[in-house]
Amino acid sequence: MLKFIGSGSAFNTKLGNNSAYYKMGNQMLLIDCGSNIFHRIKENNLLGGIEHIHVLITHTHADHVGSLADFIFYSYYCHDEMAKPNVTVYSVHDVKIEELLSINGITPEVHCFTKKLQSDKQYTLNFCKVLFERSIHVKEIPSYSIELYIDGKFIYYTGDTNSLKASLRTPNESSKVYDYVYVDTCKADYEGNVHLSLRKLSELVSPDVRSKFWCMHLDEGFDRQEAETLGFNVVTNEY
Ligand SMILES: [Zn+2]
Repeated sequence: MLKFIGSGSAFNTKLGNNSAYYKMGNQMLLIDCGSNIFHRIKENNLLGGIEHIHVLITHTHADHVGSLADFIFYSYYCHDEMAKPNVTVYSVHDVKIEELLSINGITPEVHCFTKKLQSDKQYTLNFCKVLFERSIHVKEIPSYSIELYIDGKFIYYTGDTNSLKASLRTPNESSKVYDYVYVDTCKADYEGNVHLSLRKLSELVSPDVRSKFWCMHLDEGFDRQEAETLGFNVVTNEY
């Protein structure tokens, strides 16, 4: 469903920073824009035919926002019509994305548009519906998961987290039925880990619902085959 520009953790230079996208006509949805994502977008000519990019930001760790300013400046000056903003950045108000962009010399409403959203509230974007939910990650900054409704499919994208909400672990009749669940998963497994280890994920998710789960944000030791043997899917990079 979603396509991945990068599917690695912060230090997984081979797979690149975790970032997903979806294109619909001349519009593109992009989730996060970590340190090496702008480079990959440009090298792979991902913006061909795209007139507007909707960027959803989960949190402000560099592997999720590190090249956002480069991407916005590039889109403003070099993509499509010169000096016309064609990126809109959506985030929950306490993520403070405008402060981050302003330190990088970006002026909202000039170089790009920014939309501050409330968590737990559904918004309709150009071609999809989006809802941000707080996730458990680190104590220093807030982090959010994203629920998406695109093209008739319900998607859950955890962002960075070390836990899963109950309705994902053991869905009942009143739970929302997701078609795809993308989840931050790593090999690293230790007390205090701010990401979700494959061991913990397999303890949390019963085997009968694992086929809807897609592991992403993979660290270098991650064993794709082990995850697949356990019944999970593992995302692969589009490029
Ligand atoms: Zn993070």
